[in-house]
Amino acid sequence: MNAPLVIAGAGIGGLTAAVALTRAGHRVLVLERASALSEVGAGLQLSPNACKCLDQIGVLEAVLKTASAPEAIRIRSARSGKALARIPLGSEASARYGAPYLLSHRADLQKALYDKARSFPSVEIRFGHSFIGSYVDEAGNLGLTFQAEDGRNLTLQAKVLVGADGVWSRVRETLNGHATARFSGRTAYRATLRADQVDPGILRDTGLWLGKDAHLVHYPIRQQSAFNIVALVAEDWNEQDWSAPADRSTLLRRFAQWAPDARQLLETPDSWLKWALCGVPATGHWAQGKTVLIGDAAHAMLPFAAQGAAMAIEDALVLASVLTPETADIANALRTFERQRRERVRKVQKTAEENGRIYHMSGPLALGRDTVLRMSSPESLSARMDWIYGWTPPS
Ligand SMILES: Cc1cc2nc3c(=O)[nH]c(=O)nc-3n(C[C@H](O)[C@H](O)[C@H](O)COP(=O)(O)OP(=O)(O)OC[C@H]3O[C@@H](n4cnc5c(N)ncnc54)[C@H](O)[C@@H]3O)c2cc1C
Repeated sequence: MNAPLVIAGAGIGGLTAAVALTRAGHRVLVLERASALSEVGAGLQLSPNACKCLDQIGVLEAVLKTASAPEAIRIRSARSGKALARIPLGSEASARYGAPYLLSHRADLQKALYDKARSFPSVEIRFGHSFIGSYVDEAGNLGLTFQAEDGRNLTLQAKVLVGADGVWSRVRETLNGHATARFSGRTAYRATLRADQVDPGILRDTGLWLGKDAHLVHYPIRQQSAFNIVALVAEDWNEQDWSAPADRSTLLRRFAQWAPDARQLLETPDSWLKWALCGVPATGHWAQGKTVLIGDAAHAMLPFAAQGAAMAIEDALVLASVLTPETADIANALRTFERQRRERVRKVQKTAEENGRIYHMSGPLALGRDTVLRMSSPESLSARMDWIYGWTPPS
């Protein structure tokens, strides 16, 4: 039998690629380092560009069963607590972009993608398999080495290798000249509450508070039965862990000068987890020979445009559109994928960096920012997002 297309990583990008590529006619083998799907992580924002992709591959319906749909993003000043701006989402976003703006628990989205992938006989998913390396044999065939959980090394042939193994990608390390992930000097503190622990008035929307060297994002997940809070601060801490225990009192000290409503919310969770924010500069090549990187492995970005998962999902659909089972020149098709994605991804990455700078302003710059926000109409704020949210996957 012909060698399968192998995807390293069953995260958001890898599982989306499994579904999209098998729908395009490929036989797909997904190899995932973790021993099972787990509940690690919390909320992810799924903007309309991502939802359009999920709809196209038949996963949106399942995601809608567990996701929440916020009515708006409400931006507030951390010092005064006053409202600065409102960006409409809900039915207005659906009408504007032809797809909803959703908030999902990462584990719910991953499960929906996993179930869909498993429904195709042409997809096999093996857990407990870590990608280690690749080689090209004398006949030009691509060979891969994986390590199983019992420590055994396994080799197999692949038609194509898709590196969807996240920000600390091992596949990326095997490509020549790609940059490595860099810690950003910022940390995200994360907590999840039950809906009955928060004021019902904030359950409908995404909240964004802007303060000096810090901002706060909160939103409902799991059909408004749970509430996700992420506090983002400048901090010189770096570990490759998505869920390191965080010190609650250190966090509360950082926000001691914030408005009472924000402080009250931050004081509610008994415990916090944290992860160090990293980026991968979208500089080196994502495609070399029969290997290609997608998602965070290629271009991890700061979460300040809430587009990390969306870009991984978009990548998967574009990859499936350029690579059919009949493609004779695979290397060329993978380079085409890279050309089609690079400019957009780089622009989104820059927007996320710029948002980080704007969100954390202080002094006169913050006053200027707040004045501009207060004077901006909801329509003009929505229009600024059109180039991101209005993107449509190739059919
Ligand atoms: C456990 C976890 C929790 C997260 N929690 C959040 C969160 O709460 N909020 C948020 O905004 N973002 C979170 N993220 C990041 C977010 O999922 C990604 O930024 C985004 O979805 C892009 O997806 P991706 O597929 O490129 O990478 P990821 O979704 O990170 O998936 C990468 C996958 O590759 C696997 N992998 C890694 N190395 C190997 C290897 N050598 N061989 C085989 N498999 C490998 C990983 O186990 C993982 O399943 C989390 C990521 C992970 C892995």
